[in-house]
Amino acid sequence: MKATEQLAKVVSGGGVGRVIVMKSGSGPVEIEKVIERLTAMGFDAHRSSGAERTVIGAVGGNASAIDPRELRVLAGVKEVLKISKPYKLVSRSFREEPTLIEVGDVVIGGPEVVLMAGPCGVESEEQIHIVAEHVAKAGAKVLRGGAFKPRSSPYSFQGLGGEGLRYLRAAAEAHGLKTISEVMDSSQLELMSEYVDIFQVGARNMQNFALLKALGRQRQPVLLKRGLSATIEEWLMSAEYIMAGGNHDVILCERGIRTFERHSRNTFDISAFPIVKKLSHLPVIGDPSHAIGIRDKVAPLARAAVAAGADGLLIEVHHKPEEALSDGPQSLFPEQFETLVAQLRQIAPAFDRSIG
Ligand code: PEP
Ligand code: MN
Repeated sequence: MKATEQLAKVVSGGGVGRVIVMKSGSGPVEIEKVIERLTAMGFDAHRSSGAERTVIGAVGGNASAIDPRELRVLAGVKEVLKISKPYKLVSRSFREEPTLIEVGDVVIGGPEVVLMAGPCGVESEEQIHIVAEHVAKAGAKVLRGGAFKPRSSPYSFQGLGGEGLRYLRAAAEAHGLKTISEVMDSSQLELMSEYVDIFQVGARNMQNFALLKALGRQRQPVLLKRGLSATIEEWLMSAEYIMAGGNHDVILCERGIRTFERHSRNTFDISAFPIVKKLSHLPVIGDPSHAIGIRDKVAPLARAAVAAGADGLLIEVHHKPEEALSDGPQSLFPEQFETLVAQLRQIAPAFDRSIG
């Protein structure tokens, strides 16, 4: 590669991708031909079919070397555009409409603000059942609960592992909920895939690229938390890793970033919601619990997130937070969660959203 090309690549942060926009009447044969052509040219072709149009993203390889005329002449091609942002598949240029992620009958990214709630960690069969019952009754659709916990201290509760996953699944099934749990290492994927509907990538693992690649190779949805000190662009690049592997079901989660402020555990970046919604088609949800770290201040942040456009919320709830093995001080009592949901039901319609 020539020095100037190399520089251009660095400046554009990973090369220029291309988006091939198909004509509205184009059929599967024409689409397949374009994909074949791109693959023969050495690119990874990613297809996105919306209500209005199908687009094919060409990434990897040297996409900037594509002569757009070679593609424009193919049947069914309407136009060939450049994506100069470093993230390609994640960007709004690849997909105009919001991505809807279906987890059974739960749809994330649509008009409903999806509530995911439960304890920080699964601690016992009894605990997760009690909490599941409360959050399901209040309106949550997804039960959270870590079985592998990324703790700052090696001496803190590390999670129940496989046993925790079994309890989580059973409690969720008993109350008609889906499950989400954190995966810390790709070696856990196989076991976890039997028990979880959504894989959670924790803030500390946002740039664990080996894990992101492994998540890209499988097909279950992934909730990607923003890293403690990650810029929005770095966060979107991590989502790009998962999508580049072929898994397009990525949910972004703003969980607070580290700033100089000490009155809260982190600083909830409320700006992230409208900014990311503009840059990307992926759903974005808010985690006010880890953002503020203080129980009685979780609700105001949750309300603000919904007002700012969050597609869902991830909230820690525990029936006995004073006895919780992790994150007790930020866990809501079940009644507090119920009150919050009632408030969200009033707020959401003002923005054409609903709470299930
Ligand atoms: C969690 O959800 O319990 C958790 C550990 O979150 P984070 O990765 O955002 O710190
Ligand atoms: Mn937690």
